[in-house]
Amino acid sequence: EQDGEAAKRIAAVIPYYPFKGIARFYDITGFLTRPDIFQEVVDIFVARYRGKQIDSIGGFDARGFVLGPPIALALKIPFFMFRKPGKMPNGISSSAFSVEYGKREGMCLPRGMPLHKGDPMMKSTVVKEGDRVLLIDDLVATGGTLSSGIELVRKVGATVVECACVVELKLFIDPPPESGLPNRTKMWKE
Ligand code: IMP
Repeated sequence: EQDGEAAKRIAAVIPYYPFKGIARFYDITGFLTRPDIFQEVVDIFVARYRGKQIDSIGGFDARGFVLGPPIALALKIPFFMFRKPGKMPNGISSSAFSVEYGKREGMCLPRGMPLHKGDPMMKSTVVKEGDRVLLIDDLVATGGTLSSGIELVRKVGATVVECACVVELKLFIDPPPESGLPNRTKMWKE
């Protein structure tokens, strides 16, 4: 929870970043310099998902790339990246979505990197039909980013088992309609 005891230990709160309309930016990158706290965070996720039927973990550009791999290694399952647009050729894109800061072009699920011309990996993504996937990011605000990942996983016929983040900004669960912000409950039901 954004203002819980644990969050105070792991997240620095920076006012009015990246612009004035955002009252509080939660920066969790500080705990990466504290192996004891980093390990504790990873252990909490690993304990939750150990023994569950999960085929792979997808992490979001960019802080999901830091958190996801140690969890995937501990669980001995593959990790894959959801990239921001324009970073990988030949991927599958989600629709554009709203986030805390405004609109974002769709996220991209890369296909396998070809080892040689005509490599069949070129055609497939790491996520396959029927897979059960866990999504990981540092923080959920409106849920727009996670929803784009859910859309991509469903596009290839796989299922999202759960979405897991270190910090949840409660503010965005049901913002007042006049705020113009996306409503997370509504978005996730869809
Ligand atoms: P959402 O899509 O609106 O839920 O925003 C979540 C995405 O934006 C995640 O990938 C976060 O890394 C990033 N983000 C949004 N707000 C913050 C914040 O206060 N601190 C750090 N990252 C944030």
